[in-house]
Amino acid sequence: MGDAVGSREKRFEGIAVAPGIARGPAVIHWVDEEEIPYRKIEASELPEEIARFESALIATRGELLEMQQKIAEAIGTTDASIFDAHLLVVEDRTLIDEVLRSVESDLHNVEFAFHKIAARYCKSLSEIDDPYLRERVVDIEDVTRRVIRNLLGKASTGVHAHAEPHIIISHNLTPSDTALLNRSLVLGFATEVGSKTSHTAIMARSLGIPAIVGLHDATDHIATGDSLLIDGYRGILIVDPTPQTLREYEAYEEEKDLVEERLELIRDTFSATSDGIRITLSANIELPDEMGDVKENGAEGVGLYRTEFLFLNRETLPDEDEQFENYRIVAEKSAPHSVIIRTLDIGGDKVAASLDLPKEDNPFLGCRAIRFSLEHPAIFKSQLRAILRASKHGHVRMMYPMISGLAEFRQAGAILEECKAELRSEGKPFDEKLEVGVMIEVPSAALAADLLAKEVQFFSIGTNDLIQYTIAVDRVNERIAHLYKPTHPAILRLIKMVVEAARANGIWTGVCGEMAGDIVLAPLLLGLGIDELSTSPTLVPRVKKAVQSVSLVDCQDLAEKSLQANTSSDILQLCVDFARSRYDELVS
Ligand code: PEP
Ligand code: MG
Repeated sequence: MGDAVGSREKRFEGIAVAPGIARGPAVIHWVDEEEIPYRKIEASELPEEIARFESALIATRGELLEMQQKIAEAIGTTDASIFDAHLLVVEDRTLIDEVLRSVESDLHNVEFAFHKIAARYCKSLSEIDDPYLRERVVDIEDVTRRVIRNLLGKASTGVHAHAEPHIIISHNLTPSDTALLNRSLVLGFATEVGSKTSHTAIMARSLGIPAIVGLHDATDHIATGDSLLIDGYRGILIVDPTPQTLREYEAYEEEKDLVEERLELIRDTFSATSDGIRITLSANIELPDEMGDVKENGAEGVGLYRTEFLFLNRETLPDEDEQFENYRIVAEKSAPHSVIIRTLDIGGDKVAASLDLPKEDNPFLGCRAIRFSLEHPAIFKSQLRAILRASKHGHVRMMYPMISGLAEFRQAGAILEECKAELRSEGKPFDEKLEVGVMIEVPSAALAADLLAKEVQFFSIGTNDLIQYTIAVDRVNERIAHLYKPTHPAILRLIKMVVEAARANGIWTGVCGEMAGDIVLAPLLLGLGIDELSTSPTLVPRVKKAVQSVSLVDCQDLAEKSLQANTSSDILQLCVDFARSRYDELVS
């Protein structure tokens, strides 16, 4: 943190994850457990304590109703109905009476009584082996936090509870929270934890919202209503910016706007290097309504459709028909280009309440992605059938996430064949030539790429995970974010190995991890032999500009020098120098 002399301005530095600058009032989004104060009270204070409790329950009820209405407007009433269960908790007479009795008999503050009794309810419910009752535990915990925050006089918590434009400050935002952000109201967000490749950061880039993560203890120094400036280019959050800072930022913003305007001009141009080598530039999406951004930013279709986002923020799983509708829309809107639909990648930092999965100690190493699909063939089959059916409505390709080796690919392939046979016998059409590829994001898959390349039709390297699994650095842990190095020599070697295996077998290789959207690193990827780059729609124009500003021969030279370098910082320096000498105005 830094303070400007003689002013109230405070600066916090974090990790820049989504470009842009925004100014607006802070809204603190509390997610962590509150400290529950304990206080003895006098009998004479009882009426006041009871009145406080009643007001907190009324305020909580009001918040829940408001959120329910907003969510109903944003995503439909089915999902908004989750708040019915929350409302039942604030109206639960048994719970309320027990709290009142506890305050009266033990003469202690109502926060303490409410927390204690709610925790006891949760404990008893969680011990009963019934998924419905376990779900109620989550409701009670959520509502308890709200009531306690209202008793403590803290701001409301929902990321969608504010009607004015604002900047969200939070300890953390889950990918599900981020998926619900209202683009017209949320000007930007900053979190204490997280890293550049967490799905929360990826969502921010997709939504085009300036964002910073890894701000450590920022919520201790910022209050709801504080005036903020968020610099998503450099990862700086400024509280109470001085007039001088605002002037400097106006000039900086003008510079950036000019760059954006120039990027607009190349939107419809060809994506090729200066020596005429075509590089396919496509976009990553999470939801079909991002297709407008895909087109607007001049991407050539969709290189990664993260279908798991259809499974988040809801109580029930989408059935085959609902999935088919979503995939069909994306296939049609991607035309004349293709869409690569990735099968479910649930797990890790993407938790789907509708699946009610047991908590794992190491979720990124657990039952994630293709492992989940293979363990739940009914869910997997409904998705495969929906993808196959959508393949009749455009140019659809499909890939599996987190494949660790050939056996897993074959297992998935066998289920795919079953689905094809079913559809044939039901007379439901699909593209018999649907191309199937795999994501290369587990080191074992990269090392066994020569085996996989003989049976798959393309590779898409998921550098976000490939880096985390290769260097053993949790991609969402800000404490070790400095160890997460896309330019680690081991990463370059693995990418080279994958490309060579692909070429030897006549298939292509793309990169759909965040490295593809990093204009400093994109030339290195091209030099290593990557054929396709897929990134957040909003980053496509700058990547196109980078591609057009380099020759493949120079990129190959950069890759060769990088492969000979010894450390990630040496390689990064080579890449930065390369980018600066060709498109300095794009490098932050
Ligand atoms: C990756 O791991 O690089 C990737 C693109 O997949 P995700 O970010 O969804 O894990
Ligand atoms: Mg991945």
